[in-house]
Amino acid sequence: MKSPIQQYLDALHEELHGLTDGTPYQGIPSTAVADPSKFGICLATVDGVLYEAGDTDELFSIQSISKPFTYALALEDLGSEAVGQKIDVEPSGDAFNEISLQSGTGRPDNPMINAGAIAATSLVKSRGPRSRFGRIQDFYSSFAGRDLDMSSSVFSGERDTGYRNRALAQLLRSFGIIEENPDPVVEDYFRQCSIMVNARDLALMAATLANGGIHPSENHRVVSPETVQQVLSVMTTCGMYDDAGAWTTSVGLPAKSGVGGGIIAVLPGQVGIAVYSPPLDPHGSSVRGVAACTRLASDMGLHFMRSG
Ligand code: GLU
Repeated sequence: MKSPIQQYLDALHEELHGLTDGTPYQGIPSTAVADPSKFGICLATVDGVLYEAGDTDELFSIQSISKPFTYALALEDLGSEAVGQKIDVEPSGDAFNEISLQSGTGRPDNPMINAGAIAATSLVKSRGPRSRFGRIQDFYSSFAGRDLDMSSSVFSGERDTGYRNRALAQLLRSFGIIEENPDPVVEDYFRQCSIMVNARDLALMAATLANGGIHPSENHRVVSPETVQQVLSVMTTCGMYDDAGAWTTSVGLPAKSGVGGGIIAVLPGQVGIAVYSPPLDPHGSSVRGVAACTRLASDMGLHFMRSG
């Protein structure tokens, strides 16, 4: 006998599968050929219970959903004051790849647009035998509760097409926001975007944030509550590209989307949500992902400003 939540999720999945708007991201070879019919929804509660519907085993590249997690690692390493000197926390309302750096200082507005995300990657340093990317990969893996791998073919596609990100890294170096050779930094940014996840991994990563930084089923602490608070705040104001304001009014959950077709949303203290479906809307977010989060928020009363 299926639980009422599982029955609801199955019905929602079936209904939204009929949405056929949007196109998979054409900017990177790997996402351009993604199967538009793939669609998975996963909820992970802070007690470690999983509810899944559809293609929740399908692997895809994490893309920009990596940004809050690398930002979290930089915060854990350096603290919010030092990180804040390099990356602001102001919503820019810009598209993800906008060449927007604050005039005078060159400081990126926030860590959820590429400029700020590449700056955050530069703040993570190698430690002992672990390279910067090794540390990033280990960190994401402890959020997911399993070892996550990078796809070399996604990575080489990112490298072959990443002219704008390389330019952003050079600009950040010219302003002294990045204080080292920017080329290896942007390579590591491409690597972090190429980490492969499925909707279940992302739901558990989101649930770790919902659970104050403790993995819901493994029960290990991944990050401090202070880091979680900072990351969720920035996801609330800046996580959904140039759609963040509309998202906050309609869904009302800290969230992050990626051009790979994934979206995560977090209800602190309760649940992590992840959706995967490759066709994107004009903002670069998954069409079925946005629809599923909007429905879940309204049907389950998840909006964080809801008072009755
Ligand atoms: N690798 C992509 C880029 O940096 C990620 C973009 C995204 O998911 O928003 O352009």
